[in-house]
Amino acid sequence: MGKAKAQEEGEKMKACVNCKYIIKNPSNVDELKCPVCGSTTFTGNFGGLVIILKAESEVANYLGITMPGIYALYLK
Ligand SMILES: [Zn+2]
Repeated sequence: MGKAKAQEEGEKMKACVNCKYIIKNPSNVDELKCPVCGSTTFTGNFGGLVIILKAESEVANYLGITMPGIYALYLK
């Protein structure tokens, strides 16, 4: 079992390269559009996840996040 195979079998997630918003299991990767910033550039290479439940929270404020969702902490 290689690492690549494990990734294929896992949950597919794409991170917006602009605001790091995460889209889980996108149905069509080629037509992805970020609902937060409108960017169409995504990457599967990211590290860390932060789940924002409320845009008014301190964490969201600290990270500059204005919309609830799952975000990557950093891009590789
Ligand atoms: Zn975005």
